[in-house]
Amino acid sequence: MGSSSPSSSDIIVKYEAPAWTCGMKNVPTHKLKFSNVGTPIHKWKLSDIPDGYDVYIKRDDLRGCATSGNKVRCLEFVLADAIRQGCTSVVSAGSSHSNNLRTLAIMAASLGIQAHVLIKCNQNPCSVPSVANYLMTRLTNAKLYFVPWPLEYDEECQRVQLLAEKLRHDTGEKAYPIVFDDSPWMYGYVDAFNEMMNQGLESFTDIVSASGGGGTSAGLAISNYLTGSKLKIHGMVCYETASNQHKTINSMLRYVGLQQEDGTGLQSEDIYNAIDGPIGEGYGISTQQELEFVHGVAQQTGVLLGPVYTGKATYHLIKHLKTNPKIFKGKKILFIHTGGVFELFDGRMEEVMYSDENVQVWRDLSDVPAVT
Ligand SMILES: *Cc1c(COP(=O)(O)O)cnc(C)c1O
Repeated sequence: MGSSSPSSSDIIVKYEAPAWTCGMKNVPTHKLKFSNVGTPIHKWKLSDIPDGYDVYIKRDDLRGCATSGNKVRCLEFVLADAIRQGCTSVVSAGSSHSNNLRTLAIMAASLGIQAHVLIKCNQNPCSVPSVANYLMTRLTNAKLYFVPWPLEYDEECQRVQLLAEKLRHDTGEKAYPIVFDDSPWMYGYVDAFNEMMNQGLESFTDIVSASGGGGTSAGLAISNYLTGSKLKIHGMVCYETASNQHKTINSMLRYVGLQQEDGTGLQSEDIYNAIDGPIGEGYGISTQQELEFVHGVAQQTGVLLGPVYTGKATYHLIKHLKTNPKIFKGKKILFIHTGGVFELFDGRMEEVMYSDENVQVWRDLSDVPAVT
């Protein structure tokens, strides 16, 4: 694969950054046009929302199929950067059920780029079932390296860099290390914010999304700040902690030149409300109650949430609206559906599908079943 060059020139497009990014550094000049552009915003009739509140949803889960969700927006900038630097392979890290690695592997495969992915997982690779995101990652030609879990963010970045250097050294291949705070990663949601400004964003008071590495929240919070801080940006932390996330976002702020190298200047804590709690018993671990909630939202609204991120985030959004409403700036909330539908396919939903009264058997034509 090393000698093949990316067949991607037709999907790289010039990126016209919005005017309010003029004070930022490392503004990308190009992006990929990969999935559907412009995802809809519509009212979301969740039950159990307190009176007076309106919740809307931005459907970034509908951006594509295997390339749906928030990661595709970020990777459109990162992979364009990789291609323009002449890289023929990329290195990244994530959990075995990572949406990020699935999206990266699929995008890389269609671009003719070799993906090398570090899987943070202590299990023996042979005992990890090929289902859900992991199946899709494996269906591509991505090369997998199992590394310990948990792994400090710094060591994760170090390993990504080390493997990229080894690829260059041993194969001569130019490898692009994907590091959230040293790549145009967060521009994915700067771009999304700009898209939403053309969709009536100014009528909302708050934006809520599931958050993990922090790129989505960083892009939204920076854009909101630079356009006059009209909204309040919240992240439901489903991976690690709010304080670690602020650390990463501060580092992203330095990358885009809004914070000085000595740490002075704009602070993540001043522009972004990271909410601890949604992670619950741990990253990727679901409670029965959360799985039933995901089932209920599908039944009532037809929106499929993923148990790892968006299910927890929505569950806690409703909880905070009911018990802690003063954290919100106002009453018109926009929830960003960051995707993750394939998280539903790893078998865990069996637990809440047991007593489904919607299922009957009808064998004989004449034995018409009871209906309600
Ligand atoms: C990765 C991911 C997130 C978190 O996004 P960050 O930008 O890393 O904070 C949220 N939701 C889903 C479905 C994800 O895959």
